Amino acid sequence: MDTKAFKRSLNSSELYHRKGFGHEAEVFGQMQSEYQSDLIQQIRDNHYTLQQGNVTIRLAEAFGFCWGVERAVAMAYETRQHFPTDRIWITNEIIHNPSVNQRLREMEVGFITVEAGKKDFGAVAEGDVVILPAFGASVQEMQLLNDKGCTIVDTTCPWVSKVWNTVEKHKKVSHTSIIHGKYNHEETIATSSFAGTYLIVLNLAEAQYVADYILQGGSRDEFMAKFSRAHSEGFDPDRDLQRVGIANQTTMLKGETEQIGKLFEHTMMRKYGPDQLNQHFLSFNTICDATQERQDAMFQLVDEKLDLMMVIGGYNSSNTTHLQEIAIERGIPSYHIDSADRILSSNRLEHKPLHRDLEIQENWLPPGEIVVGITSGASTPDKVVAQVIEQIFALKTSEVADRL
Ligand code: SF4
Repeated sequence: MDTKAFKRSLNSSELYHRKGFGHEAEVFGQMQSEYQSDLIQQIRDNHYTLQQGNVTIRLAEAFGFCWGVERAVAMAYETRQHFPTDRIWITNEIIHNPSVNQRLREMEVGFITVEAGKKDFGAVAEGDVVILPAFGASVQEMQLLNDKGCTIVDTTCPWVSKVWNTVEKHKKVSHTSIIHGKYNHEETIATSSFAGTYLIVLNLAEAQYVADYILQGGSRDEFMAKFSRAHSEGFDPDRDLQRVGIANQTTMLKGETEQIGKLFEHTMMRKYGPDQLNQHFLSFNTICDATQERQDAMFQLVDEKLDLMMVIGGYNSSNTTHLQEIAIERGIPSYHIDSADRILSSNRLEHKPLHRDLEIQENWLPPGEIVVGITSGASTPDKVVAQVIEQIFALKTSEVADRL
């Protein structure tokens, strides 16, 4: 498919919307009351610190809703207002946050069902309104919805669109896109649908494997088995790694994306010489500012003396998981939870350890004076963060009361 031509024709369609519908003021008020918190504002105003009893809260200086997420949620709210009686669908979670997605369900926005890993668009009919989430949708999904005659409200974050433009540029000059991301993450699925030839690498170790293959060759079968779900159709490592360009899922660890870019730049330089580098390597900066700011703030926070770290965000949120990785690398007891409901008592906490299923942690809240670091992923409302802090204050207050 000529993805560029398709996007151009979609952009000029009357049924395609990439902006709100003029209900900003009402939606702003609604979102303020549903997602914002006075407590969080108070902590922000107090240099991101709040002390109460024997608890000191240290909040990361950048956390929570990024502007791309806020924009997507506001557009979804506006869509409901603008089409009050139409059937409205969304192709995926609008963002990776259970409470926000639940709000949309209450507003009668239907989620496309997934059967055995495949989305079922059977229930979507001509004239229905379909929202595309903040991390986008594949070009095939857009085409299907366009062919059905649906009204499409595209809330894809402009940073994600920027990555799509990048892979289009790679395709134009017959470079293979090396995408730093998770092959089964919605954003990477969407990005790869716009790419020509592509290979998805999860981390620096996988990138190093590919770089070694470029320089020294290796077992083609082993290569194909290793990346079996992470390449374009017909990909051939012996043919398709001679010219590469770098792209990324916007929420990966930014330091790692930069290292991967440098690795491939050096690899191509060694293989083809500095004067041929431009023919074999392309790189554009596509790391999203919000991800960068949140990770930088986390690095700053974990330099402090913290007794524990609470990382709040959806369990399938890539950027939240990366914040958790930073705390774990520093050896700080760190718990990833998606809401205050996971705090069962001062002795029991349900949390998601990195790359594992939910577990119960006993005695998670240390006794006595404690400093608690707090951050949250780009799709977490302040209100959820405030509920966690209030819960910690309440448990520590009752600990003191019990001792009296
Ligand atoms: S994290 Fe970045 S790319 Fe993702 S929605 Fe937010 S601003 Fe956009």
